[in-house]
Amino acid sequence: MTASRATQIAARRLEVVEQLASLEQELAELRRMRERLHDDDEHDPDGVSLSSEWSRLEGLRRTQLDALAAVDAAAARLASGQATVCSVCGGPISPERLEARPDATTCIDCAR
Ligand SMILES: [Zn+2]
Repeated sequence: MTASRATQIAARRLEVVEQLASLEQELAELRRMRERLHDDDEHDPDGVSLSSEWSRLEGLRRTQLDALAAVDAAAARLASGQATVCSVCGGPISPERLEARPDATTCIDCAR
């Protein structure tokens, strides 16, 4: 039981890390494009669409960073034996919920 949760959390972490890596790549690409535009044209005709793409990617990156923090917190709770205890009310988190959301830290009632 504990081993399978650890596996789930590890798989979820890998997923988040991979998404973060590809977002970093897109952001780096965008930064290069922006620098090129800056060299070519002071009026920067594509500047607006570039910056909206930039904020979209930054938003996605922040979401993934939050997800990573949640996954790490779940792993720490699992290691300390607190993984199935709600962090709000101290009640049990149902196995079904933990299966659906391995990084859940609250029971279904407190999550509402
Ligand atoms: Zn609760």
